[in-house]
Amino acid sequence: MNHRETARILVAGSGPAGLIAALGFAEAGFPVTLVGPDAAGPDGRTTALMNPALKMFERLGIFDGIRPHAAPLKVMRIVDATNRLIRSPTVTFRASEINEEQFGLNLPNSVLNRTLAEAVAHSGIEWRKSMVEAWRLDADHAHAVLADGSEVEASLAVAADGRQSPAREAAGIRTSIRSYPQAALVLNFRHRSDHAFTSTEFHTETGPFTQVPLPGNRSSLVWVLEPDIAKDLAALDDAELSTRVEQRMQSMLGRVSVEPGRQIYPLSAVSPWRFAHRRVALVGEAAHVFPPIGAQGLNLGIRDIDDLIGAASRNRSDPGAAKALAAYDFKRRPDILARSSAVNLLNMSLLSDMLPAQMVRSAGLGALEGFAPLRAFFMREGLRPGSGFAAFFGGLRKPAER
Ligand SMILES: Cc1cc2nc3c(=O)[nH]c(=O)nc-3n(C[C@H](O)[C@H](O)[C@H](O)COP(=O)(O)OP(=O)(O)OC[C@H]3O[C@@H](n4cnc5c(N)ncnc54)[C@H](O)[C@@H]3O)c2cc1C
Repeated sequence: MNHRETARILVAGSGPAGLIAALGFAEAGFPVTLVGPDAAGPDGRTTALMNPALKMFERLGIFDGIRPHAAPLKVMRIVDATNRLIRSPTVTFRASEINEEQFGLNLPNSVLNRTLAEAVAHSGIEWRKSMVEAWRLDADHAHAVLADGSEVEASLAVAADGRQSPAREAAGIRTSIRSYPQAALVLNFRHRSDHAFTSTEFHTETGPFTQVPLPGNRSSLVWVLEPDIAKDLAALDDAELSTRVEQRMQSMLGRVSVEPGRQIYPLSAVSPWRFAHRRVALVGEAAHVFPPIGAQGLNLGIRDIDDLIGAASRNRSDPGAAKALAAYDFKRRPDILARSSAVNLLNMSLLSDMLPAQMVRSAGLGALEGFAPLRAFFMREGLRPGSGFAAFFGGLRKPAER
């Protein structure tokens, strides 16, 4: 049956960014239509979400559902495991240094996606489990033609439709794309020793090898390698792969046993030239794709959503109007560009054989390890953009001025 419907906000895409956007806009009082399929299949990855993202989950009423399945991240460590001439010192970030109990939580994507989908199903949000087949963007509305033949009309289209974002393309937003000679091998494993809620990122010549704690003596792993090597490792039997993981970690967590399920993700970077145009606003991977280093991706996506809801709420009668989109673009630009550039530069410095790149990385990490105020600044900025600067300048002011 063909039918037309008008909705103020149309969210395209039902990955984590789309589900969170739909819940967030509904919570802010907007009528929402979500368009996207049910989760495609099992996802064995985990996502580390920092405290500000978790605050958003509390607001949306989904925090209690995920908490029992998640492990707190209290310490984050960077270890230079390269064999290069210039090596960096180990840098350790402790949440307690900035008076936080934890940086955030690491939780299985299966739990995250299920919890979000259930929350949407119980929220009264209209969820069309179809795909947007075509877009028509005019001066007053965004129109989506769905694969099931129906149409949706809205003031604002939220493009949460992933790295290839058809909505972004329909809006004529150009992108810069870079593909890396790297792939991420992803799996979960058990280990003999306690992880003490510490995540360790080993920097290697092919990219980072990152262990992140899960509840109990379990951790998740994102191992960035050359694509062929990732494929060869994924084809090993459990015992051999467990040995390789344990060796790479220098037996830091004792005996390792990998769990069933291995996934491989090719790495690339996508940077749109703008973040909103012609009634379409980009969030999540539609707005930024970069290698999985430092748990930035979805955290940044949640900040996109928060800022977009803010801009829309100040333009309630027409949240997709040019002035609301310009405000959103202006707000997001520094945060997205800073995070994307930092992650891409760090990744390239690992791949580079050039001495100057190694010297800069080593000097940067050395300064972080040796100078506690700089470390605190980066930890605060990592959690909440601007909070490092606020604490730094607050600290410079005399007590009487506070
Ligand atoms: C190995 C790895 C580890 C990571 N670890 C972390 C981490 O620890 N912390 C962190 O913050 N981030 C992490 N990330 C990043 C995080 O996973 C992504 O930022 C996040 O999954 C992006 O979600 P999304 O909803 O934007 O995109 P997607 O999950 O790609 O969802 C896009 C959705 O849009 C739908 N869609 C596409 N086209 C259409 C259409 N025409 N109509 C309707 N729907 C459409 C798709 O079906 C899909 O459901 C990691 C990424 C990787 C690869």
